[in-house]
Amino acid sequence: MQRILVTGGAGFLGSHLCDRLIRDGHDVLCVDNYFTGSKRNIAHLIGHPSFELMRHDVTFPLYVEVDRIFNLACPASPVHYQHDPVQTTKTSVHGAINMLGLAKRVNARILQASTSEVYGDPEVHPQQEGYWGRVNPIGIRSCYDEGKRCAETLFFDYHRQHALDIKVVRIFNTYGPRMHPNDGRVVSNFIVQALRGQDITIYGDGQQTRSFCYVDDLLEAMTRMMDTEAGFTGPINIGNPGEFTMLELAEKVLQLVGGRSQLVFQPLPSDDPRQRQPDITLAREKLGWEPKVALEDGLKETIAYFRTLLAEDRA
Ligand code: NAD
Ligand code: UDP
Ligand code: UDP
Repeated sequence: MQRILVTGGAGFLGSHLCDRLIRDGHDVLCVDNYFTGSKRNIAHLIGHPSFELMRHDVTFPLYVEVDRIFNLACPASPVHYQHDPVQTTKTSVHGAINMLGLAKRVNARILQASTSEVYGDPEVHPQQEGYWGRVNPIGIRSCYDEGKRCAETLFFDYHRQHALDIKVVRIFNTYGPRMHPNDGRVVSNFIVQALRGQDITIYGDGQQTRSFCYVDDLLEAMTRMMDTEAGFTGPINIGNPGEFTMLELAEKVLQLVGGRSQLVFQPLPSDDPRQRQPDITLAREKLGWEPKVALEDGLKETIAYFRTLLAEDRA
């Protein structure tokens, strides 16, 4: 049994991670400022003897005693991270410094939730961990991409300079229940639009690709990474190599939800990557892991979640 801090624990991935860690017998301290997360995601854990919840912004110092830290605090969808871009960079950079300072003081192992966005709009395909990326430093996505890149730099410098026990995972697009219904990400947008019978908004020509990983697969890899031997730092890609165009995704969602939504085309946001697919050779080797949930099965679970959520909100 360990005392584990999860920052961003009331968010989509963080709340599933809290569930998983408690199920595995650990004590969990969930820290969140509720910027994009919600108490609804962790309401079922309140009162559990192994669960503690703290409202706190990771850009401020945090003094607690823990054995391990999962640092997930950071808005992940472009709509949210572009809402207050300065705060987004602060969350990644000051948040990383504070959590690393905490890890250093209490000698805790610390894992950073990094992102495939560190590769930017990549010129190699699929992306391997050794690829340095092609990121615009001054664009509208930079607050997120560069913030996450700087957080990785800090993690590796604390490792080199202070011998900190770090782990860095680069997460590719992940979806599942508890995504925020209005967060603007493509899976939640398409499902919510289809369930409401609204137009499905395709940005650009819909030929850009993404690879979608179901949340359960992602958490399996993330927790395995946390348990790897000291000295194995990553970075390591986690994602599902199955690659789809946004048009294919829209058609799949429509087919599963039914209804009469039409596809409409809207302008492509600037700096939107053309294609993205993880090379997961390293994860296969080091974690003995690969994703198991097919897109169609994961979408069914996610659709069922949003169906209930929308019905509750109407009630
Ligand atoms: P999310 O927005 O649902 O969760 C982020 C959580 O962090 C929220 O609960 C939010 O309130 C909290 N938060 C934001 N700023 C904070 C701050 N300053 N202090 C404390 N809490 C703060 O997003 P998610 O999809 O669950 O993403 C979790 C992590 O995984 C993020 O770091 C994200 O960058 C990373 N990630 C996610 C994906 C994905 O596809 N979901 C892909 C790559 C990386
Ligand atoms: N910090 C924290 N909790 C701790 C220890 C440190 O939030 O338990 C913060 C502290 O505010 C500091 C940052 O982490 O600004 C970096 O700490 P470190 O010890 O690396 O640097 P220093 O304190 O020397 O600036
Ligand atoms: N997208 C879309 N319609 C939407 C929302 C997003 O076509 O309603 C596109 C978006 O332009 C991008 C892809 O879907 O090419 C994935 O977007 P998301 O914001 O989910 O993730 P990211 O771009 O950060 O990978």
